[in-house]
Amino acid sequence: MKDLKHLYYFENLLTEVNNDLVREARSRGDKAIGVTCFQIPEAIYSVPGVFPVFLRAPRTGSIDMGSYYMTSMTCEFCRALLERGLEGGYQFLDGIIGTAACSQMADCIENIEKLAENYNDGYFVQHVDTPMKGDENAVQHLTRMCRKRILDRLTEQFGVDTSDDALKKAVALHNEICDVITEIGNYRKEENPRITGYEFAVLTLVTFACPKDLLLEKLKETAEELKTRVPDADYKKKYRARVVLAGSEIDDPEYVKAIEDAGALVVADRYCYGSLPERDRIELNDKEDVLTQICRHTVKKCQCPRYMDTAKIQERKEYLDRIAKEYHVDGIVVEQMKFCNFWGYERMADSHILRDQYGWPVLSVDRPYSMSGAGQLRTRVQAFVESIEIKKIQGESGKWEKQ
Ligand code: SF4
Ligand code: SF4
Repeated sequence: MKDLKHLYYFENLLTEVNNDLVREARSRGDKAIGVTCFQIPEAIYSVPGVFPVFLRAPRTGSIDMGSYYMTSMTCEFCRALLERGLEGGYQFLDGIIGTAACSQMADCIENIEKLAENYNDGYFVQHVDTPMKGDENAVQHLTRMCRKRILDRLTEQFGVDTSDDALKKAVALHNEICDVITEIGNYRKEENPRITGYEFAVLTLVTFACPKDLLLEKLKETAEELKTRVPDADYKKKYRARVVLAGSEIDDPEYVKAIEDAGALVVADRYCYGSLPERDRIELNDKEDVLTQICRHTVKKCQCPRYMDTAKIQERKEYLDRIAKEYHVDGIVVEQMKFCNFWGYERMADSHILRDQYGWPVLSVDRPYSMSGAGQLRTRVQAFVESIEIKKIQGESGKWEKQ
């Protein structure tokens, strides 16, 4: 396929956290807030005057220092973030909102908070609790947390307006981004998609890594370009299976590329830093305060395994089954960051339930943060693709063997 005109530009933005657009937004006076988790509604950080930067540690090599402080038995994503923090990689931020959603991330942010004592004047670190159930009490709890610990804190620290009007502007910008990403993402449902999973992962990830208003123009140009893009005719030779990729944080499109290089086209992305369901637009009404509505959207849509009530657990399986059908996949890849407790349980459950109860072929993998284990991943994916092909040739129905 012809290269997307702005792909290289977007790829470059992902090579560092303090990228050109982050610097541009800060130079006009906006405050950059480092965030780490999708249990807090991302839209609230887009009130005029601030913008969110999801923490990442691109081009991570050694995580020895992170491991020294957090031990080698903790999540590598957290250790990589701490390592980057120790290197001074987050000093450019104006503050960090840490989520006590997972204790390992809370530990990571507490360590970064100690470092931040020496950062810029006004640099702050705020910890926020999030709910574990998907009911109305959870919505109210999250709303209180977001008001007291985030919005009030932003006003106190930077004097930004966090009224309903400001929140409506934030939701409008958030929705504009969601609409363009959804429009592009829908091409992945085509029989012969005009965009690869890697390209789409780059386009989605920049929306978490950059101030949204500065991205819109080039994203919209890309959506326009895709309207007439002609897909490769030999698509089925290159990609012998279509998969949903689900699981914990993937903040490096190279992970998606490694799967695609092994023959499985990633047509749906249900992981943190992916588009499903993070890029579903927020619908507001005039009957209720805006923050409660935003929080309800997050609680209802969030697919994080930290939600432990039966209804949410069941809903997560149904969600994956639904998108697997909608994007016409042949199988589901469930990945988990090494030493992540939540996804450890979820991955184990998914690999049985999605196969035995829903009939999907499932590949279940754990992974390091950096791409050093890509060789092993390719081997596993190749074997998975071959098993799907064999089943198709044999025309077998019924239960699939675990890979
Ligand atoms: S998996 Fe859950 S706890 Fe971890 S970043 Fe995603 S939403 Fe947050
Ligand atoms: S991968 Fe798991 S342990 Fe690591 S930050 Fe995310 S939820 Fe926490």
